[in-house]
Amino acid sequence: MTRYQKTKGLVLHEMPIGEHDKRLTLLTKEFGKITAFAKGARRAKSKLLAGTSIFIYGDFLLYKKKNYTVTQVECIDSFHAIREDIETLSYGLYLLEFAEFVSDENNPNLPLMKLILKTLQVLTKGTLQQELIICVFELKALSYIGLTPEVSHCVLSEDENALIYFSAVQGGVVCERCYNQASQPVQNISQGTLYTMRFILSASLSDLYTFKVDEAILKQLKTIMRTFIGYHINKTFKALEFLEATK
Ligand SMILES: [Zn+2]
Repeated sequence: MTRYQKTKGLVLHEMPIGEHDKRLTLLTKEFGKITAFAKGARRAKSKLLAGTSIFIYGDFLLYKKKNYTVTQVECIDSFHAIREDIETLSYGLYLLEFAEFVSDENNPNLPLMKLILKTLQVLTKGTLQQELIICVFELKALSYIGLTPEVSHCVLSEDENALIYFSAVQGGVVCERCYNQASQPVQNISQGTLYTMRFILSASLSDLYTFKVDEAILKQLKTIMRTFIGYHINKTFKALEFLEATK
């Protein structure tokens, strides 16, 4: 078995190690999330200097012994525009943090990886509401890790009509009749928000970022996603905390 392995990867996290080295968390096409060491990557003349920073997406040549070592990287995209303002950067950092937390070591999830790359692209273009981009990303990403909220029928009675509530704890929509049996917190969900969630869950990657919503839907969608993620993903995301503190 060859010890050299090629893969496309995105740098999710970088950490200085020793005097000149870095430890990277990579989201790779072939191996899922991995830790890789980049020796000498912090030296000014290192050929690994540019390719081992966060947000770099590239072709990595890795050497695998006990750990992965980056021997070569060719940058495909650096998502440079993401650093243009602090808000865009923070949303970008949140995507990386989210991806790092929900990805498994050595277990590739190609749809999730494609979604992250697409979302980083859309964020840097600046044509859509950034808060909407984040909600779309979160909902689609949840569906790729087996945490799809139920939005087609009531989670308690399976009724398909009068779906006007959402219970994050129970993982989906609740009909009018079941309100009293639903676990709190129960939130209101409008038809518009419900259709938006259904669209996001069924859309292909190329159609995912092609729509806008009004402020009321966005506000409701955001609240639903925050509550759902707060309950089902037990993690405080630093970039989100920062964004909320600056608002
Ligand atoms: Zn019901």
